[in-house]
Amino acid sequence: MMTGMNKNDYDVRVDINDDILSDVSLVTIGIVRDIIRTRVGRGKADAMAISFQLAKDKVRKWIKMGHVSVLEHFVFSFDISLSRVASHQIVRHRIASYTQETLRVKHDFSTENIIIPPQIDDSDLNEWIHDMLQSFELYKKWLEKGYNRDVVRRFLPSGIRTGLRMTINARSLRNLFEQRLAKVADFEIRNIAERMVGLLFSRGYGFLFEDIPLVKKVINKTKTLTNE
Ligand SMILES: Cc1cc2nc3c(=O)[nH]c(=O)nc-3n(C[C@H](O)[C@H](O)[C@H](O)COP(=O)(O)OP(=O)(O)OC[C@H]3O[C@@H](n4cnc5c(N)ncnc54)[C@H](O)[C@@H]3O)c2cc1C
Repeated sequence: MMTGMNKNDYDVRVDINDDILSDVSLVTIGIVRDIIRTRVGRGKADAMAISFQLAKDKVRKWIKMGHVSVLEHFVFSFDISLSRVASHQIVRHRIASYTQETLRVKHDFSTENIIIPPQIDDSDLNEWIHDMLQSFELYKKWLEKGYNRDVVRRFLPSGIRTGLRMTINARSLRNLFEQRLAKVADFEIRNIAERMVGLLFSRGYGFLFEDIPLVKKVINKTKTLTNE
């Protein structure tokens, strides 16, 4: 293994927008009050004392009865650092917005820019990195011949790291979790989905997703890990 680096340095990274989510109770009560206003009228809704607990119970009830459009008002942004393989998969989720790092500008293609699958044995790690860097050598060779980056980027491997921001509402996110937390999903996108679940639960938004069987599995797994 390269000096000073360990396998975690090559892992996916997922972050959530804390600025928007700073107060889960205010966000939730605000959304629920607005939805109730549209359903029963402003006067009646404003007269109701809506606690965070009541707001969460309302949302749970709406999910149970299939009134799921209300979930579209809960919107989250994630900053994700992942391979181009996984970014191809994630952008297939069309009910979301994306902004992705371009390969048309200058990049420092080094070991930090590779995502290494956890399946790679430690004994094969150096060889894996070496072979990935070989593709960068070909890329550099063609740049030096005078071709533009937007032409030469075709030599870059799908395992290189890219960054994207994804903004997605809770309804679409539930669909993503139902698909991407499944065992048949690719390990990297499943890892990303698991980290999203962890972040959402740690910020108090678990009530939007807790009824999904695959989400329950992730949470139980995390509890088992933290209790060990
Ligand atoms: C295990 C696995 C393997 C996969 N393998 C492949 C593969 O080999 N090749 C491949 O191309 N893709 C593959 N996919 C991607 C998959 O086909 C979906 O494109 C992707 O998962 C996004 O799902 P989605 O359309 O439900 O999400 P979104 O695009 O976010 O759509 C959300 C929902 O909106 C509705 N919707 C959106 N657009 C339309 C539309 N045009 N018409 C009707 N309803 C719509 C649907 O109800 C849909 O579920 C795979 C996905 C998984 C999980």
